[in-house]
Amino acid sequence: MAVPTPFSWPAGRKCAVSITYDDALPVHYELAGPALEAHGLRGTFYLNIAAGPSHAPLPWRELAARGHELGNHSLFHPCRRGAADRRWIDKAFDLRQYTPHRFQQEVGIANAFLQLIDGRSERSYAYTCFDTHIGRWRTRTPIAGMIRDKFIAARGARTDQPIAVSRDLDLMNLGGFLADTLPLSALTDAVKRAGDESSWLILVIDGIGAGTHNSFVEPSIHHNLLDFLASESSTWVAPVIEIAKWVRRENEEALHLTK
Ligand SMILES: [Zn+2]
Repeated sequence: MAVPTPFSWPAGRKCAVSITYDDALPVHYELAGPALEAHGLRGTFYLNIAAGPSHAPLPWRELAARGHELGNHSLFHPCRRGAADRRWIDKAFDLRQYTPHRFQQEVGIANAFLQLIDGRSERSYAYTCFDTHIGRWRTRTPIAGMIRDKFIAARGARTDQPIAVSRDLDLMNLGGFLADTLPLSALTDAVKRAGDESSWLILVIDGIGAGTHNSFVEPSIHHNLLDFLASESSTWVAPVIEIAKWVRRENEEALHLTK
């Protein structure tokens, strides 16, 4: 059986890593953004508009101006309110009750709001609670199909491994690797695995330190992770949108070559 050629990353890099921060927390612009910049890195910050950006957009505008991506994480952070640990979700924002029209309207308004903040017309989306569908039973609808015309890419279902980049990779449902609560070794192992496989690791971080979010990474682990990534010169660390654009261009070129 032929071994597939590994995906090629720019400037001879072995793999790609995106660091993503969810839920529009103040600790993201107070700590994460400056820490990334001190290491020469940039990340993606997924904002749910009603959580804070709607009444305090300026710190996010400054973050975007320094080269980070502001990603769309919906208006109200709706999730599937099924399991017992999902009761914190307001009934009004239960994804099982959403129609495609409502979902697309809300995501579209969040995009318009983000454009008012950073002036950009292209960005990526992050599924809320890693939920991949709206509706239930006969109305169950995959999110991927509803967002294709609105985004370059989307971080979708939860995964415990880097993303294998193939020609038929669906950019609208990229696996997210939840970094919260993990020890540093689990994170550096995942990065090394991405290097071995020429793949793309999308790390997902909510809070940084106790009291910032109910799910978080320890501040020292966050800092050491950035140290590690900055020292890995063969790893391309960039926002989701930048890496997604590279993947799309490479795959389109490969498609033309085979035609
Ligand atoms: Zn979230």
